[in-house]
Parts: sequence; C-alpha cells; structure tokens
Amino acid sequence: MVVFKKIADLQAYLHQQKTSGTDIGFIPTMGALHKGHISLLGEAKKAGCLSVCSIFVNPTQFNDKEDFEKYPTSLEADMTLLLDAGCDVLFLPPVTEMYPAGTEEASKYDLGYLDTVLEAAHRPGHFKGVAQIVAKLLDAVQPQKLYMGQKDYQQCMVVRKMIEIDNRDVAMVICPTQREDDGLAMSSRNRRLTDPQRAVAGIIYQCLVSILTKKGNADFAIVRKECFDLMKHKGLEPDYVELADANDLTILSNYNGRPMVALIAAKVGNVRLIDNMIL
Ligand code: AMP
Repeated sequence: MVVFKKIADLQAYLHQQKTSGTDIGFIPTMGALHKGHISLLGEAKKAGCLSVCSIFVNPTQFNDKEDFEKYPTSLEADMTLLLDAGCDVLFLPPVTEMYPAGTEEASKYDLGYLDTVLEAAHRPGHFKGVAQIVAKLLDAVQPQKLYMGQKDYQQCMVVRKMIEIDNRDVAMVICPTQREDDGLAMSSRNRRLTDPQRAVAGIIYQCLVSILTKKGNADFAIVRKECFDLMKHKGLEPDYVELADANDLTILSNYNGRPMVALIAAKVGNVRLIDNMIL
C-alpha cells in the first residue's frame, strides 16, 4: 500500500497507474475503520479496480464541535486493516491540503430539498460540507468508480446530486450496510458506546425490521409510535422515525406500493446513531 499526504504526489502516482488502463475505485472515509468500510474496499477490488481509500475527518461537515472533537481516530489500526484487505493506495491529507484557503471556505452546492429533511434538519450545514469535501476528493483522485455505503442513505443521495450538479464522469456504487450480530449497523461512533449502551443499541435495527414486517398491514403512524415508545423504554432518545420515497426521499405519511426506505436517528447516551432499511 502506498500512502500519500499531498494531492500532487497522489496524482503523479495515479497518472502512472492510469496508463495501464485500470479503473480507479475510490472509497472516501473518516477513519476509525471497521468491516463496513472494508466491505466497500472489497467491492472495489472485486470489480478489478485500483483501490484508493482516503482517511480525512472533514471539519466542515460537523455542525457540532463536540462531535468533531470526539470523533474517534485509530490511524495505526486503520492502516493494518487496509493493508490486510489489500488496499492499493491510502490518501491521508492534512486539513491544509484540502482547504488551502481555510475551512471557512463556503460550499458552493445548493442541494435543495435534500438539504431540508431528516439528517439535514438535525445537522444544519452538514451535507453542504459533505458535498464540498467529496467534490474536492473526487478532484484529487479522479476515480472512475466511487464506493459509498447505504448506511448513510441521505449522504448517498447528496453525493449523487453533487455529481449531477458538476456533471462529473464517475459511477457511484452503493454498497449494503454491514451489521453486528444483533443487527446494529457498524459505525465508527459505536466505539463511543458504553457496554450498557451497546447492549440496547440493536433496538434501532429491530425497529427497522418491524417497520418492514408491518408494511402493507398496518398504519405507519401507529408503527412509528411503537418504535418511539420501544426506543424510549430502552433509554434511547429517538430524533426521527420516518418513511420516505426511496428515489427522492419525499417523506411519506403512510406505506405505499412504491420503493420506500425507513430511516431512524436516535441518541444512545450522547452518541447519535443513524440507520435505514429499504422496504
Ligand atoms: P465514514 O467513515 O463514516 O464517513 O464512512 C465512510 C464510508 O463507509 C461511507 O460511504 C459510509 O456510508 C460507509 N459505511 C459506514 N458504515 C458502513 C456500514 N456499516 N456498512 C457499509 N458501509 C458503511
């Protein structure tokens, strides 16, 4: 695995590799890697791509200073995981490399409706920051394929919109959510859970499963209330339990016959977790 910290060095290396005709598969991450991240790398490798992972904790997408400061880092362990998984290139830029003019630089992306609902309503400015950094990373890496996780469903839609706005020539590959044995979606934030918090965090997945199984034979308002009650009973603090159109994230008041996605955000202690399931 070759490691680069500077865009110019990365680009010089990738330019050499491109002449061999291999596609570049890019996996942007914020580190604290787990099997979910590694599954994205696995997909890029399965597709025969030269795999490029980035680790960059992007300051402009954190609306909560404490969340940014407490974001877990584990660079040595991350590098071991990437090496073991056969990652070809690791891009590890410092903040000054991605934001040479400073992190006050405004994001130019108008994400419209996507920037008003669900996560956007709870984390103002978050997705503008996501669009901004993924665009910068795509400029640096210039991959043919971009691998992202369904775990962050709204983020995938935001990045798809940014790709459309910029008319970028990159194919997005959305990979399934990797889960722990009790169904909890793998997340870097899970390591901040205490043992008792970890023991109840799987309730989020159970709620998603119950939303799925009740599709077609229950009123969603009732199912949502059951989910809220169950989560609260177990000591979680739900932010939202929503049903949305899987294609454009229009919020739905009840089940319909079209592709839908159920989305949940809840706090377990001071750790905010999100998950979703396509119905
Ligand atoms: P992050 O480091 O959390 O920004 O995530 C980097 C990428 O990994 C994003 O595309 C995430 O959606 C994806 N990802 C995070 N958790 C999982 C998971 N449990 N399963 C699959 N992909 C994931």
